Amino acid sequence: IKLSEGLSKTKAQLSKQINNLISSSSHFDTNFWEQLEEILIMADVGFNPTLKLIDNLKLRAKEISPGDQEAFKKIFAQELASLFPKPSKKLIALKPEVVLLIGVNGVGKTTTIAKLAYRAQMQGKKVLMVGADTFRAAAIEQLKIWADRVGVGFYSKEHGSDPAAVAYEAMDKALKENFDLVLVDTAGRLHTKVNLMEELSKIKRVLNKKHPGSPHRTILVLDATTGQNALSQVDLFSKSVPIDEIILTKLDGTAKGGVVVGIASEYNIPITFIGLGEKMEDLRPFDGKSFAKALLD
Ligand code: GDP
Repeated sequence: IKLSEGLSKTKAQLSKQINNLISSSSHFDTNFWEQLEEILIMADVGFNPTLKLIDNLKLRAKEISPGDQEAFKKIFAQELASLFPKPSKKLIALKPEVVLLIGVNGVGKTTTIAKLAYRAQMQGKKVLMVGADTFRAAAIEQLKIWADRVGVGFYSKEHGSDPAAVAYEAMDKALKENFDLVLVDTAGRLHTKVNLMEELSKIKRVLNKKHPGSPHRTILVLDATTGQNALSQVDLFSKSVPIDEIILTKLDGTAKGGVVVGIASEYNIPITFIGLGEKMEDLRPFDGKSFAKALLD
């Protein structure tokens, strides 16, 4: 799926409004900046990122003449892109690479794991999906269905088993059978915060014991269509476990794609992938520059 197609709902709203604003303004005056601020806030860019963006744009706007849509779009895309934190590349000393996926039920975590597995498999990697959300029988079944569909390895135990035991045994399998990538699905029940925190740290401890240095990354999966709710999930989860990356799903389903900027910039956590559909191919590596450009194209 093309980025601009996946973002069509956001583009229909945000780009149209910005284009209209530029073409109807002959000066970069207070009125112009106020309207721009409103458009960005409405698109869920978030209060602080919006103010920062507008401050930067005010300085840059001196370089161009009002009404020059193309020039304005160019500086807008540049300044928007600069708001995104850059992901750091971690070197994995010994394979497999182990990734922990966290997130509330329904955000698209299972689908995202399948998408990541599919991508890695296309790159020639041997992938193991691990169902450590033993709290919900359906979660294990869904993950297994995806593992079969993608054609990658799968490990879990019966519903109700200790998630840390699942992680331990899965790592045993991964080491013995020479897997390259292990994707661990975890429970997403926020109402039992203390348990969740304990469960996640136990899983991490066990993984590290079996395979020192792992888990290498913890990824929080968020649903873009939930807007401000997604932001409060970052708050809650980051209290339980350090979050290295965010994957934002269902960007194709919202006109408020500005939430990408809001989340990344507010929490200074890099967004590494975005979900643009329900199929296993519908995951794109995220990069702020292409995103900013696609928004205003
Ligand atoms: P989980 O409970 O977090 O594991 O969520 P699932 O992976 O089961 O996904 C919940 C629903 O969201 C399913 O109907 C998925 O097909 C859908 N979904 C997941 N990711 C995306 C996406 O990027 N775009 C769209 N449109 N739907 C998605």
